[in-house]
Amino acid sequence: MAECLFCGIASGAIPGDIVYRDESLLAFRDIDPKAPVHLLIIPRKHIASVMELGTGDGATLGHAMEVARQLATENGLSESGFRLVVNCGPDAAQSVDHIHLHLLGGRALGWPPG
Ligand code: AMP
Repeated sequence: MAECLFCGIASGAIPGDIVYRDESLLAFRDIDPKAPVHLLIIPRKHIASVMELGTGDGATLGHAMEVARQLATENGLSESGFRLVVNCGPDAAQSVDHIHLHLLGGRALGWPPG
């Protein structure tokens, strides 16, 4: 089976524009940004989707929120606002089967999403 794309970015086997890393998480720029700031925050551990979350993954997700706050601040979004999105499954158009938190900002974002 081919290696997961985001596991490849996490291991360094696949290039990524990495903006944050620690022992449990990685954040990098989306290759096809949908907003002036579009970052993806992922756990290093392979978890395919929200539906695959297990006991003990909650701490990592909570930490992802803290990192999102830090990155939003660093990117000047703390006052203007931003959106955090996790797509899950076909109806949400999840295209990479490694759970990821989108951080989008730098423009007014429409609601509801398409
Ligand atoms: P989703 O549709 O929620 O699964 O989001 C997957 C995201 O990954 C999309 O916004 C893609 O643009 C992004 N993406 C795909 N390949 C790469 C890559 N090699 N580096 C960075 N972002 C990527």
